[in-house]
Amino acid sequence: MAIDLRSDTLTKPTPAMHQAMMEAEVGDDMFGEDPTVAALEKKAAKMFGMDAAIYCASGTMTNQIGIRLHCNLQDEVICHKYSHIYLYESGGIMSNAGASVRLLEGERGRITAKAVESAIQPDDIHSPVSRLVSLENTANKGGGSCYDFEEIWAIRETCHEHGLALHLDGARLFNALVATGQTTKQYGEVFDTISICLSKGLGAPVGSLLIGSHADIKRAKRIRKVMGGAWRQAGYVAAAGLYALENHVDRLVDDHNKAKEMAKVLEGLDYVEEVLPCETNILIFKLTDKYTNQSFLDKLAENDILAFGFGPQLIRFVTHYDFTDDDLTKTIEVLKKL
Ligand SMILES: *Cc1c(COP(=O)(O)O)cnc(C)c1O
Repeated sequence: MAIDLRSDTLTKPTPAMHQAMMEAEVGDDMFGEDPTVAALEKKAAKMFGMDAAIYCASGTMTNQIGIRLHCNLQDEVICHKYSHIYLYESGGIMSNAGASVRLLEGERGRITAKAVESAIQPDDIHSPVSRLVSLENTANKGGGSCYDFEEIWAIRETCHEHGLALHLDGARLFNALVATGQTTKQYGEVFDTISICLSKGLGAPVGSLLIGSHADIKRAKRIRKVMGGAWRQAGYVAAAGLYALENHVDRLVDDHNKAKEMAKVLEGLDYVEEVLPCETNILIFKLTDKYTNQSFLDKLAENDILAFGFGPQLIRFVTHYDFTDDDLTKTIEVLKKL
């Protein structure tokens, strides 16, 4: 089987996770009667010290519901120009919430309180209404970079001063927590809504959670419904999510160590111009003109290794549960001989 470094979404359930899924108690979640979904939502809310959570099919859905909760027609979302919510959610900010977007620059996918402050629109009928700030942690296009928690607090202060809501796209929040030592509770204190993915590094096959206040999650259920996202015996997949939250968080450090080991090797190779700082499980590096993106990916594929191009001369590797110690050894051997 090929070594697959394209994404951390590619993992398959482990035998123990599979067992948990097979044994799940289920009911009709549209009637609010699936005990496993309820247990997952309750666990997530409690972890973050927040009121409630809603289990959805994807991180796109939890982000988009979050944006809809906070924004209406003529409102504006402030976020980094490389944000997943802007680049990779099919124009949802506009088509779901009818809002516009104010894109900020910032180092490796992160924005600052100062940049947010200067992007807030004046109270003038010509301008959209600044309503929501959305952060991404870790930042995917930033190469899995982590926010400094002090900066997040400063952004929250700015939001409070100006009456803006604060949403977190935490598709890989647990990678950030493991890398920085912050806690879920600290994040629960800062954000109005938090989206987390169970299907990335945590290794569940499906599912994301939106976490927030009772009032917001109640409204979120109606928004999920109109998106066609209310579901029935979802407990079979929720069981995998519960299992992941209980068993797959601490091990993320292994993924980070593997990515860092490959970063070190790449730094010494003649076809690599630059390796972006590697903080978590995403590793981005720039090729010299010895290879094009495609010729490099082809060479990897000849050696049974899959990866993605991530812009001109940029290659992305993402480590995950199914990328084993043996896979790491083999990948390093291949990288050294290219
Ligand atoms: C994967 C991802 C999402 C959600 O993606 P889905 O494929 O819809 O689950 C959101 N934000 C970031 C940063 C992601 O990497």
